[in-house]
Amino acid sequence: MSTINTALGPKDTSELGFTLSHEHILLSSAGIQSIYPEFIDRDFGIAEGIRRLSEAKAEGVDTIIDLSTMDLGRDVRVIEEVSRGSGVNAIVATGTWLDIPRSFVQADPDDIARLYTREIEVGIEGTEIKAGVIKIANEPEVSPGGEVILRAAARTHQITGTPIYTHTMAKNRVGDRQVEIFEHEGVDLNRVCVGHSNDSTDMDYLTGLLDKGVWLGLDRYPGQGVLWQERTEVLHRLIEAGYGSRLMLSHDWSVAATMIPKERVEERARTNPDNYLFITRNVLPMLLELGTTQAQIDALMIDNPRRFFEGAV
Ligand SMILES: [Zn+2]
Repeated sequence: MSTINTALGPKDTSELGFTLSHEHILLSSAGIQSIYPEFIDRDFGIAEGIRRLSEAKAEGVDTIIDLSTMDLGRDVRVIEEVSRGSGVNAIVATGTWLDIPRSFVQADPDDIARLYTREIEVGIEGTEIKAGVIKIANEPEVSPGGEVILRAAARTHQITGTPIYTHTMAKNRVGDRQVEIFEHEGVDLNRVCVGHSNDSTDMDYLTGLLDKGVWLGLDRYPGQGVLWQERTEVLHRLIEAGYGSRLMLSHDWSVAATMIPKERVEERARTNPDNYLFITRNVLPMLLELGTTQAQIDALMIDNPRRFFEGAV
């Protein structure tokens, strides 16, 4: 047993329950909330977040990992309110997404690691809310600035023991490069989850990463580019091949966002009327049909996220 920081304070990892490993509630960009607050409907984000996550809670979702970083307009008070209002635990992230501040690109990774570490050990933006995970993003490849934040994440992990969860462009095999850098930094790959991996159906790429010792986030559902059924077939094949204890599932969903066009927000809502319940209502039933057992599903949704945070092998 160990303790994990959530938006509502520390919790025992045994309390996490059914966990979605990569979600969001409200998304914008760095500074928007404080400088141009009228650009995003914060109140809608809170109300809709509570509504959708209350529905999710009623159908068995206990915890989300909200992988919004400062450059995704992370607002920890929104996450806190939605968590309290819905009863769903929310783990908050430090780290950096794709919109890397120019001030970070030339920086020493150790200096950035100090910032991430403060968000884990002291709190975020003057609150007592502490990050429970380090998020890092690289797309379409690992840029020079991307390498700085990867190394900063690695060093933050070394200091704090907090696990790392990445965003990749799977079709460019970005996970391979991330693993190389983490290996160079001496990171225990059991504490790394390579995310967005189900944007790829390349079994060699996926099993290659798993054999290196990382976790895979199959965290885009229904997703774009690859049909959700195809994603689920790949997931089933990975479970059959013995990798079921190294995978975590999620949607990469959000209820309010400003960095995608309004039409796309509406289109997303049409293609996923189930919101944070797409996996529960569609993917898990399909897995059962394919022959996956309920025990294997419980491992994916309950045991694996807990083990990821505990650092259990
Ligand atoms: Zn995301």
